[in-house]
Amino acid sequence: MNERDSDILKEGDVIHLLSRKGRRYQFQLKNGGRLHHSGEFIPHDEIIGKRDGTLIALSGGSRFIVLRPTLAEYILKMPRGAQIIYAKDIGVILTNADIYPGARILEAGIGSGAVTIALLRGVGEKGSVTSYEIREDFAEKATENIRRYLGEIQNHTLINKDIYNGIDDGPFDRIVLDLPEPWRVVPHAVDNIRGGGIFLCFLPTIIQTVTVVESLRETGCFTFINTIETLMRHWNIDGRSVRPEHRMVAHTGFITIARRVEKPLS
Ligand code: SAH
Repeated sequence: MNERDSDILKEGDVIHLLSRKGRRYQFQLKNGGRLHHSGEFIPHDEIIGKRDGTLIALSGGSRFIVLRPTLAEYILKMPRGAQIIYAKDIGVILTNADIYPGARILEAGIGSGAVTIALLRGVGEKGSVTSYEIREDFAEKATENIRRYLGEIQNHTLINKDIYNGIDDGPFDRIVLDLPEPWRVVPHAVDNIRGGGIFLCFLPTIIQTVTVVESLRETGCFTFINTIETLMRHWNIDGRSVRPEHRMVAHTGFITIARRVEKPLS
């Protein structure tokens, strides 16, 4: 994995240039490369070896801060095939699916790989993530996004299959789903989550959510079936102007969690 324990920027690092106005531009550092922006430039070699967070000046004098992006910042800038899950929900997914170092996770679909990156970080080198994805083009793009951020990794397996047709390589500790009809995965999840394991799915509409909750209940193998949504409100704190921001994202999706047990208590 990409070692982030040093604050010295090096070849291969993805970096963000931060302008005074708060704009961000994403680049990957390459020996001998040149970074161009609005008619100005800077050789990558002048950035490689500097500390994360350094102030730099381009050839025309424009100044920027150079920073390695956090996961939340990186996923906003990476090339996307499918709609990603944003950091607000990823955080809630990681805690509610109880992702831990060493866990074996099954994920579907991979989309652009935003959730995959978070899962891989969560399970660490001793854990593993298996991603089912029907679209080969999405799988390829997601793999590039993951490699660019995490470097070469050995514990990610991509399976180019329709997960509604079944799961081959269980049991898993956790199943995390972001696809339109997760209830079609529920019968396979029953056989492929270990006792005490967790099923979690993210869905944009409540109609889908009701359908998945009912199908989880019908199996008789899940308990603590629970649906949540997260509303995140940013605040403006500036002198005496201390108030919530006027705008917020009203809706992203509903997260449903269920725990695999032998039989729920009736
Ligand atoms: N969580 C991802 C986004 C997933 S978008 C992210 O944050 O980047 C939903 C993905 O599910 C798409 O890539 C779609 O191709 C895939 N998908 C839909 N139905 C599927 C199925 N039956 N089996 C496998 N993948 C599926």
